[in-house]
Amino acid sequence: MDGHKMQNKIMILGIPFDNMTRKEFLKKLYTRMENNEKTFLVTANPEIVMYAIENPSYNHLLLEADYIAPDGIGIVRASKKLETPIKERVPGFELMLGLLEIANINRKRVYFIGAQDEILDLTIKNVKEKWPDLVIAGHHHGYFDHEDPDMIEMVRKTEPDIVLVAFGFPRQEKWIKTYLSKADKGIAVGVGGSFDVLSGKTKRAPFLVQRFHVEWLYRLIKQPSRYKRMLALPYFIKEVRKQHKREESL
Ligand code: UDP
Repeated sequence: MDGHKMQNKIMILGIPFDNMTRKEFLKKLYTRMENNEKTFLVTANPEIVMYAIENPSYNHLLLEADYIAPDGIGIVRASKKLETPIKERVPGFELMLGLLEIANINRKRVYFIGAQDEILDLTIKNVKEKWPDLVIAGHHHGYFDHEDPDMIEMVRKTEPDIVLVAFGFPRQEKWIKTYLSKADKGIAVGVGGSFDVLSGKTKRAPFLVQRFHVEWLYRLIKQPSRYKRMLALPYFIKEVRKQHKREESL
């Protein structure tokens, strides 16, 4: 394990989160980009943590990440409950916007992979408008055989500094691990449904909804079919309470 992996980690239900602000994350990521250091970045919310608890192979995969960002207020609250408070929540979507900003300023190469074809086309169009100086290394929709080594090679050859992978978890993290084992450089991060938002097809929750941390409720109303996935949150809170009790009794 690299030295940097040991520092500053906050364990929440077995997942080592980095205790950095959004700004600190972006600074670190930019430095690694400049040094051509390969970087596996994960943004993890309570749903991902619960999935990792239930799926040891995914848990192992997350332990291989260079950085894990606390995506969502649930993680920050859990860290407080466990008496190891995390500085701030770092939403995956905002981290991605920060990376695009850095890429724009420094004319870095970004590969966009994932989402449906027409969503991706709209995303690319919006990216070109908003960040005209970043270089689009390439783009490809997310509906292909994720085990296909030719796809890895196709992306690698374009020498991206940043690869945004929008397949949803756990698919995106699995693909990223294989990709980075072959790539020579680049920051790779799973961005879930972010292209759906960047394309303009899905709206982010309104500001007030974000402000009062009730995005989960907003999403539930917009997409009732997601209710099953949302049950992860009460389980997450229960598990955090258990961890807290265990630690208190030590
Ligand atoms: N997606 C993809 N390839 C797949 C499955 C999903 O590119 O094989 C995309 C999908 O189009 C969406 C994003 O991944 O843009 C997140 O999808 P979804 O919300 O269904 O995944 P979840 O987060 O629910 O796992």
